[in-house]
Order: sequence, then structure tokens, then C-alpha cells
Amino acid sequence: MSVVTNSPVWRPFTQHALQPGAFKIAHAEGAWLTAEDGTRFLDAISSWWVITHGHRQPEIMAAIRKQTETLDQIIFAGFTHEPAEALARRLVEITQPGLDYVFYSDSGSTAVEVAIKMALGYWRNRGEARTRVIAMEHSYHGDTVGTMSAGARSVFNAPYEPLLFDVARVPFPEKGKEQEALDALERYCREGAAAFIVEPLILGAGGMLTYGQQTLVEMKRICEKYRTLFIADEVMTGFGRTGTLFACEQAGITPDIACYSKGLTGGAVPLAVTMCKREIYDAHYAPERARAFFHSSSFTANPIGCAAALANLDIWEKTDARARVTNLCVMQGARAARFAHDPRFSEVRHLGTIVAMDLKVSQSGYLATISLDLMRFFNARGLLLRPLGPTLYVLPPYCVTGEELDLAYDAIDAAADQLASGAL
Ligand SMILES: *Cc1c(COP(=O)(O)O)cnc(C)c1O
Repeated sequence: MSVVTNSPVWRPFTQHALQPGAFKIAHAEGAWLTAEDGTRFLDAISSWWVITHGHRQPEIMAAIRKQTETLDQIIFAGFTHEPAEALARRLVEITQPGLDYVFYSDSGSTAVEVAIKMALGYWRNRGEARTRVIAMEHSYHGDTVGTMSAGARSVFNAPYEPLLFDVARVPFPEKGKEQEALDALERYCREGAAAFIVEPLILGAGGMLTYGQQTLVEMKRICEKYRTLFIADEVMTGFGRTGTLFACEQAGITPDIACYSKGLTGGAVPLAVTMCKREIYDAHYAPERARAFFHSSSFTANPIGCAAALANLDIWEKTDARARVTNLCVMQGARAARFAHDPRFSEVRHLGTIVAMDLKVSQSGYLATISLDLMRFFNARGLLLRPLGPTLYVLPPYCVTGEELDLAYDAIDAAADQLASGAL
């Protein structure tokens, strides 16, 4: 087996003392990763939620190759290029009406940092003293200091806690308790909060927790009433994951600010955008330099990334990508139904192309070592699945077939049996 153990590489979210090895992947195609020795893994989590259509999608790869013939990174202040201009125009068209400006960066975390900074700049430039940010319990918005501040506090960010800024926290709107969340949001908005940031319809890293579109509609209505800016973090949900191109579409709402990254280039190369309504841009538009939006990433609007994103938008607009996603939603729904009344699982949930369920075990939380044992079990069966603690989820690229999906669900079934028999 091609496992790298002795390496200077420090990997993300990895306790090297417990997880010394990493599979060395030499080839990726469609829904599959192939290691140097030929071992294959079904990528049932889209390589951490980024790959949308499939690995090495041919049109995206071709667009990247072609772009390298004319442009690499170009300074983006005072200079621009056609891939960035074309992509911005097309993003304005394809997103909900009202998101009229596009700010480029390079990762989901930076897209969220930019969103928070835009919101605070908006209020400062308008001369209103609003600085408080509202976020949702269990949310995840990235791993930089600003985005960790907005995200849930846990063992992951405990060492940095003294540096994190305080946010107002709305409870997660679980079924039957939506009103509590809405009431809390209204209370903070009434006190004059600057912005509310939320992952629409599903909280990813928080455990694939879903909530209803009506709650999203209500949250937007409350924010509007008190003029609190509504920031949608669509970094994971964007580009088809929830069954529609964007999750906010399902609630028929346009956020004031929206963040997209993972699926923006089909997951092929890093790129991110923060889009906003005209008022936010206008608040920064003035004869004084001091009112400008002071943010930049070195790799802002990388032309090769923009070319990949343009090819991705072509796929959405000119091929049957939407039909494929709809078909995957149906396939996933059928497989969720298989476990819906299974006593070994609880909270079986299905949203668009995503299915998640909780294993009934005594250990809970991400750090429970059960997730490491499960991961090893799945890897040994040729599957890339990465449980979030006792939460198992399948979040595949859209090219996945029903037979391939069944490999994942049969393994989940087998894992639950092993666990029940004490073999795992
Ligand atoms: C992954 C993710 C981020 C962070 O994106 P990075 O590219 O990893 O920095 C932010 N918000 C949500 C909802 C995410 O799922």
C-alpha cells in the first residue's frame, strides 16, 4: 500500500501521533482516487466538499491548460484581465438578483473574512456604530482568527480563544425549536447588530445539521426589519450541493453578502468570491481614500482560477449538470430511506446531494476515537469517508453512479454491524 509515513509534511486536522500515515494518490478521475500502487478509493466526500462534477473534469482541465498559454498571476489593483471581468459578469447573472459586485480572493476563509470586513466597513462609512456580529450555534466559517470567531467554539480553537472576538450566538433551529432561534436573532438584531452570518440550510463541519428553508426566510425577514446585514456563507452549499445551484435559492432570498469558494472552479483550483449588494459597495465609494475597502490577497482573481470557474459556469449553463444533480438527489433520497428506520442510526437526514446520519454510540463529538477507527475501516474497503465524530455522511461528486453510491452505503451498513458486535 502506498502510505507515506516519514515526511516533513504537517497535514491539516491531523494528529500525527495517531494518524502517522497518508495514502499517496497518483491519479484522480471522476469519483475515484488511485494510489501509487493502484489501490483505489471512491471519493465519497468530494475531497473535503470541493469537487463538484468529478475529478479532472475535462472541460475545466482544458480551460486551465489554455489559460496558462497567455496569463499567470496579474496584479489586480489598477490592472484587470478578461477572465476576471467575464467571470464577475457571469456570476452577477447566475446568482440571485441584487448581488451586483464581486470581490475576489482565494479560499473560503478569506471570502468570509472579506464578508465580515465589508459589513463592518459599511456601518463605519455610514457613520452608524454597529460592530456586533451574530452567528449560529455549531456553525463553521473557516480557520482564520476572524472566521474562527464567528464559528462554534470547541476543542479545535481552544488555544486561540483569548484572541477570538465575541459574537452573539443564535441557537441552532432544530425541528420544533425554530422559534427560539428566531427570537434570539430578533433580540440581537433589535440591539443593533452589524451582521448575521449563516450557513444556509445545512451546517457542514458542525455535523451536517439541516434546518428548514422557512426558517431561512424568517431569518432574512428579521434581519431586513432591523437593517442587520445578512451574510450567506455558501462556501460548502454553493454550486449544486443542496440540489439547487445555491441554497438561498430554495428560500427565495437574496443575501446582502454571499461567500462562494469550494465548488466555484468545480473544485479544481483555489478561488473564492464575496458578492454583495450595491449599497455595500456604494458605502465604500467616496472621494476620500480612507473609505476604500482595504483588503487584498496576493492571488486575487488568479486568471487560471477564473478560467476554471468560467468553464465550470459553462458546464452549469450549457450541459445537463442540473439534471445530473437532480438525479443524484433522488438516488441519495432512496439510500437515506434505507436507513431511516434502522435502529443502529438516528437523525437520518437528506438535503439535495448530501445524506448524513448519526451512529448510535456512547462516544460523541468529533474527537471520539470512533471516527478514526471508522475511517480506517472505510479506507480498507476502498472508500474515502470521513465521519464527523459519530456522524456519517456521503457527499459525493455529481458524476457518481448508483452502484458507486451503494459501495459507500454497504460499507456504512457493515461498519455499524462491526461496531455493534464490538469488532471495531
Ligand atoms: C470549508 C468552509 C469554509 C472555509 O473554506 P476554506 O477554503 O477551507 O478556507 C468556510 N465556510 C464553510 C461553510 C465551509 O464549509
